[in-house]
Amino acid sequence: PFAPAASSWVNRFAQLGPAFFTEMQASGVPSPAWLAHSPACAQTLGWPEDWWVSNPPALEVLSGNALWPGMRPLASVYSGHQFGVWAGQLGDGRALLLGELNTPNGPMEIQLKGAGQTPYSRMGDGRAVLRSTIRELLCSEALHHLGVPTTRALCATHSPLPVRRERAERAAVVTRVAPSFIRFGHFEHFAHHGLHAELRQLLDFVLAQHFPACQSAPQPALALLGEVTRRTARLMAHWQALGFCHGVMNTDNMSILGLTIDYGPFGFLDGFDPHHICNHSDERGRYAFERQPHVAWWNLHALAQALVPVIGAGLGDEADVEAIQAELAPFAAEFEAEFLRLMRARLGLATAQDDDKALVDEWLRLLARHHTDYPIASRRLCHFSTAPGADLSPLRDLFIDRDAFDAWGARYAARLQQEDSVDAERQARMCTVVPKYVLRNHLAQQAIEQAERGEMGEVQRLLKVLSRPYDEQPDAEADAAFPPDWARHLEVSCSS
Ligand code: AMP
Ligand code: MG
Ligand code: MG
Repeated sequence: PFAPAASSWVNRFAQLGPAFFTEMQASGVPSPAWLAHSPACAQTLGWPEDWWVSNPPALEVLSGNALWPGMRPLASVYSGHQFGVWAGQLGDGRALLLGELNTPNGPMEIQLKGAGQTPYSRMGDGRAVLRSTIRELLCSEALHHLGVPTTRALCATHSPLPVRRERAERAAVVTRVAPSFIRFGHFEHFAHHGLHAELRQLLDFVLAQHFPACQSAPQPALALLGEVTRRTARLMAHWQALGFCHGVMNTDNMSILGLTIDYGPFGFLDGFDPHHICNHSDERGRYAFERQPHVAWWNLHALAQALVPVIGAGLGDEADVEAIQAELAPFAAEFEAEFLRLMRARLGLATAQDDDKALVDEWLRLLARHHTDYPIASRRLCHFSTAPGADLSPLRDLFIDRDAFDAWGARYAARLQQEDSVDAERQARMCTVVPKYVLRNHLAQQAIEQAERGEMGEVQRLLKVLSRPYDEQPDAEADAAFPPDWARHLEVSCSS
């Protein structure tokens, strides 16, 4: 049976010292069983595809009941701003870092989510339920296959252990994988408490492990801030182009590596609605879809504030503030450029022209006017044709205002002709960029409902469909269809 060699664990975070974490064991769960596995994530780790087959220790280890030799489990401490307000100390309240493994793709941390209480659980039970675990597993792998930077999910297990939420639910544990789970909130934690030696230690660690190119800058902390700003801007461009709404963009849910992290009440847009709020608890819409880039910008300021003690003389004087502003300033341009690059690809434009932003904005406004289904309209646009008399009705009929679509379509056709776009070529190219399959809420919900009845197969099936988001999959046509009416009323909130 496969198990990672004891010698391949490196556990560098564990060397930072006790100010950064509490070493501890998972609480464990009774009678664990496998929920699903991601073959693609196993491949990232360099593990055999059937690593878990007839391997009882793997099931126990990844449910929190046992350890493989070389693992060094710990819960890390961080703080952060939640919904714009300083929330004080948080930390891995239900996550446990099992250790860090050398892999063909570099060192990767392996983390359990839902492994029981830690010193940072506050009022929480340290658990995750089946529902939220399935959503995180499916979405992190789906985003990966869509080319969006994200933490990964290797597998999930479930247990009959009851977990109390609005109703009684069942416990589940997801195994997450990422080069690092360090958040903006880790920096905020040490800055807020005036622990400047630890703050510097964290900075040096992050620079050495993840941003070596910034180490030789005159002011490495500034270089780091600039790099995180650009990565975060590009991440936001991916989310906005794809119609992905994170739902809880608190600073403790912002990865220092610019990864999508902490999948909670996320949602993909069905109908295109810039004001869409996917988190039922977000009454004021702080994390509404169209606000995400702005919130990221706000969060980067919180990170910048936390870095002040390790910039210049650490006093935050006028020169430092100016230098900080200079690192944050490229955010808007970086976001715009990446968003436009992604949207050009989604529109099948092979060249860049000055009016492209207006063409993209007009397309999005057209979709927003009557909340036209974003995934379906985007995919049907892949079959747009500039041939005279071409039948555009499958796309055109999605719009209540046909005249408005015709006006935009004429402009789009003219733009395509300007670069001598060839229908067949462009159509093929667009179908490798615009997904046919995205994890709509109702798809996740169907998998969850089956799993709650004890049928786990749907999760694995959906995971497989989402691992080929651009391919025509005749057996999965239903997964690319419009959401059913009941999907409108699905509510997802933080407490899962
Ligand atoms: P979130 O915004 O969901 O990522 O979580 C915010 C904070 O609450 C983090 O410190 C989590 O570790 C913690 N947390 C969330 N749910 C639980 C839970 N069920 N038990 C313990 N801590 C939790
Ligand atoms: Mg979180
Ligand atoms: Mg609306």
